[in-house]
Amino acid sequence: MYPNGPQRSALARAFGCSRVVYNDALRARETARAAGEAFPKTGDLSKLLITEAKKTEERAWLGEVSAVVLQQSLRDLDTAYWNFFDGLKGKRPRMGAPRFKSRKDNRQAVRFTANARWKITMGGDLSLPKIGDVRVKWSRLLPSTPSTVTVIKDAAGRYFCSFVVETEADEALPETEAVVGIDLGLSHFAILSDGTKIDSPRFLRRAEKKLKREQQRLSRKAKGSSNRTKARIKVARAHARVADARREFHHRLSTKLIRENQAVAVEDLSVKGLARTRLAKSVHDAGWSAFLTMLEYKAARYGRTFVRIGRFEPTSQVCSQCGVKDGPKPLGVRVWQCRACAAWLDRDINAALNVAKTAGLAVSACRARVRPGPVPAQREEAGTHRDGQPTVVGIPAL
Ligand SMILES: [Zn+2]
Repeated sequence: MYPNGPQRSALARAFGCSRVVYNDALRARETARAAGEAFPKTGDLSKLLITEAKKTEERAWLGEVSAVVLQQSLRDLDTAYWNFFDGLKGKRPRMGAPRFKSRKDNRQAVRFTANARWKITMGGDLSLPKIGDVRVKWSRLLPSTPSTVTVIKDAAGRYFCSFVVETEADEALPETEAVVGIDLGLSHFAILSDGTKIDSPRFLRRAEKKLKREQQRLSRKAKGSSNRTKARIKVARAHARVADARREFHHRLSTKLIRENQAVAVEDLSVKGLARTRLAKSVHDAGWSAFLTMLEYKAARYGRTFVRIGRFEPTSQVCSQCGVKDGPKPLGVRVWQCRACAAWLDRDINAALNVAKTAGLAVSACRARVRPGPVPAQREEAGTHRDGQPTVVGIPAL
């Protein structure tokens, strides 16, 4: 979204007011809890903190924004509480109690339901109550009339709108024979059991390089200077671009894998054990868990099978050809020969094959075999050109 100056001010007001109502309600509930009183009902809070508060001098400005936005903010607090309570009862993963929102939060958002009478104009603008007709560059067509719109401002100062729409039931993709095991490694983003090695694409590496450059520039600016403020905004923008590029890469790859395979197996990251070591940073940077979440929901949506396997058999210690476990190998060993069946094995592909086999998928194992002979050392920098072997496979746009 591209709001003009007055619209940006109006949106800032809406973000602010919705935050104040949220925090007021949170405070009211926490006070009641500390005093051992009953949990204040949402209806009562709405009357007290919105309707009545508007009549007071201190909170008169709440009247400057759409009341729907404020009610939705209370709704969000309810959701945060129910999630917290359900976590305590063991109905879902445990999470922290609702927290106060801050002006400095990275993400500011307000939600307009149908009651707010917002609409999309003939000219393609988004018409929001008490804000105006905001220019939108549409990233896609809406499949049906939306009921709700959320307006978001991110850390880089960009505005987005996101809609709730009704869709047809998801269609399963036509069945296919192919299945795949995936090993999430450190030498590559992912390695498939068919031997494909996937690195992060060039557009992501470029965004990451730019971010690094902007961070260095920021560190050279004098504290408190206006140049430093400018540099900080540039870093925030570069950060946002890296996050977007990474999400884009994850989406393309997960869609491709789900489209091309009937079943996808991955080693569960919690048993991967890497995150607890000094490799943690690169593990988190690779953003695997976000990627796995995409694979999981896309599999469910398109009628595919997604399997997470626990590591009851160390995937790098077992020969994918004959199944013999021939012991651990140091990380530096990329290729070795199985002592039982004499097959030459590529560490990563062997692991991906074992993931697929452990998940019960019938994969052809021939691709794990490598030609014996000198193996070029793996280079650190993903951006450098690797001689000879086409080990890096780009992901075509879908
Ligand atoms: Zn073997």
